[in-house]
Amino acid sequence: MPHIDLYSDTRTRPTPAMRRAIAEAEVGDEQAGLDPTVNALNERVAALLGTEAAVFLPSGTMCNEIAIAIHCRPGDEVISHRFSHVLSYEGGGPSHLAGASTWGIDGANGMFTAAELEAAIRPPNRYLPRSRLVVVEQTSNTGGGRVWPLAEIEAIAAVTRRHGLALHMDGARLMNAVVASGIPAATWAAPFDSSWIDFSKGLGAPIGACLAGSAAFIHEAWRLKQRWGGAMRQAGIVAAAALYALDHHVDRLAEDHANAKRLAERLADVDGIEIDPTGVDTNLVYFHVRKPGWDAARLTEAAAADGVVFGSFGPSRCRMVTHLDVTTQDCDTAAAVVSRLLGA
Ligand SMILES: *Cc1c(COP(=O)(O)O)cnc(C)c1O
Repeated sequence: MPHIDLYSDTRTRPTPAMRRAIAEAEVGDEQAGLDPTVNALNERVAALLGTEAAVFLPSGTMCNEIAIAIHCRPGDEVISHRFSHVLSYEGGGPSHLAGASTWGIDGANGMFTAAELEAAIRPPNRYLPRSRLVVVEQTSNTGGGRVWPLAEIEAIAAVTRRHGLALHMDGARLMNAVVASGIPAATWAAPFDSSWIDFSKGLGAPIGACLAGSAAFIHEAWRLKQRWGGAMRQAGIVAAAALYALDHHVDRLAEDHANAKRLAERLADVDGIEIDPTGVDTNLVYFHVRKPGWDAARLTEAAAADGVVFGSFGPSRCRMVTHLDVTTQDCDTAAAVVSRLLGA
């Protein structure tokens, strides 16, 4: 039986070469600024994103929540897509940790336009929450791994400037957008007040993310990192994996994207699966189960019993994610298993 895990790009395991980089890392006390590997990673990410500074954090969720807490005062409102990670998958963090309320825009493919944003911004009025921060998720996760058009982001940035709002990028899969678009990370990050990249998704490292912004912003981020228990000690052990990933696992994301496209095309040929392969920009493949007697839960359960693991998101919607530990052959096998199950 195959063992193919398409549940998420978080399922990657460190490669032998990455484990060697981890074993050989020079380390020190990270929270005292004495870990040379973490310091090198922070400088590397600041240069990559074109910002003054960056700070290594245990997770992307902490990057988002620290940024929200810096940009917002209690009672302020965070605007994002209604299915974005910050609104849907961070345990109510904006309200608990920053005291911020949230507003979700209902745009297509997990994205919204500058006009849709402008319509969502509250007029200054003491009855209303104060709109304060806009969060853009690049790529859009539950929106299908779509790459936001750069022109739309620039138009959104112009709207936020006009209204005095801050703009934050959830860049969990920014490097997928970079590889898919050919547009450098610094160009994507330039319109934002803060941004971050995750190392534990498609880049294949076990732990960690880096939040980037101005020197003053990162100074504040350090205060919250310390307060919330995110300051570490010999964190160079994990930062070494992140540096290794930046050196060796960025360009290869193109393979994940090609595999995802191929997987989508194979699935489009299966009777009972609804998918538009032209909507697959990166490594996330969402589809609907449209077969009498079948739903997403039944299909994921049956496929898992046959060694193909993927997720269900709602009654008919499923997601398969390509990554470092998934081969082209695995994608063909996964599509064949789905086809056999639904054809039986
Ligand atoms: C995974 C993810 C996060 C959170 O990152 P963690 O490192 O898992 O905390 C945030 N935003 C998006 C879009 C994600 O996919």
